Amino acid sequence: MDISKDKLSALGDMLSRPRKIVIVSHTNPDGDAIGSSIAWGDVLAATGHTVTRILPNRYPYYLDFMPGIREIIIHKNDTEGRAAEAIAEADLIFCLDFHTVTRLDALGDAIESNRTAERVLIDHHLDPSTDFDLMISHPTASSTSYLVARIIEEMFGAGSITRRMAEVLFVGMMTDTGNFAFSYITPDLFRVVAMLCSTGIDIPAIHNSVYNSFTEGRARLFGYVINRKMKIFHNGQVAHMSLTEQEMRRFWFQQGDSEGFVNYPLTIRKMKMSAIFIEHHDFIRVSLRSRGKINVNLFASRYFNGGGHKNAAGGKSFAPMAETLRHFEESVAEFAAEGLL
Ligand code: 5GP
Ligand code: MN
Repeated sequence: MDISKDKLSALGDMLSRPRKIVIVSHTNPDGDAIGSSIAWGDVLAATGHTVTRILPNRYPYYLDFMPGIREIIIHKNDTEGRAAEAIAEADLIFCLDFHTVTRLDALGDAIESNRTAERVLIDHHLDPSTDFDLMISHPTASSTSYLVARIIEEMFGAGSITRRMAEVLFVGMMTDTGNFAFSYITPDLFRVVAMLCSTGIDIPAIHNSVYNSFTEGRARLFGYVINRKMKIFHNGQVAHMSLTEQEMRRFWFQQGDSEGFVNYPLTIRKMKMSAIFIEHHDFIRVSLRSRGKINVNLFASRYFNGGGHKNAAGGKSFAPMAETLRHFEESVAEFAAEGLL
């Protein structure tokens, strides 16, 4: 994967004078959204720009340890209007780790209200919208953090990567690749990991902070979901799970507690596709995972108004749970009838 020299040079031109910059990333931010935002903001601040990072809603508690995370404004909780002020003043807006402004919920409307700022996309999702002044879109990059590390290296040199930047970029790269196990694992990815490693980051400690810091409630909820709520159908090739708000309350649910559940059915042999449906106040959030050539990005965009990557995608349903699960099963049958499963 090469990043176009023309695009880097266009980006260099945009950054050739001090700018008022806002960096935004997606709703329900994950390690990649946050890691790329912190590191990209750090390098821009170090080169003389004014930087404000904004996320639509709060991040899961197990990412609290990430250095710099408290500097990010959470738009949903921003009663003082700091986000609105930074957006109104911005002359350059970076959109990291998402492909359409609809992934920002109410923060999207806030961004749309500034029609004069230039907009730059740095992302690795499929099917990006084209409403950007500059698009650095690489669906074959395993994470946005990897892309950001490459851009920083090419524009500012490896020496500009601080330990804090290396730590948050590593979190993004590790989480989006499922511990360097999913698609787009390349020799260059490990070269970049080695570069981050040489800043002195403590990889076992980072791993421990991300994966061994969950609540007791999460462990018990996981047992419940797998034992009681997992339905396997389509000849053992598809699984779905669901959680209602009432069930989540029983296990003292905190945002982030269901992270990773959807991957588990894929540990069963012959399983091709897995889905989890999580009830929110006014909609159901859908998460999809698949193995190999099964394209859940296509499935999510067709049946659940969403998108993502080939093997990991998501969307929303506005129907009640029972109807949503029925819609999923019917959609699986249709998808399979077309030879897509
Ligand atoms: P997750 O299941 O981990 O929440 O999301 C998996 C992938 O699908 C992520 O890359 C995420 O950006 C994408 N995704 C999740 N929900 C949505 C959605 O509602 N719309 C779109 N377009 N993509 C989504
Ligand atoms: Mn990502």
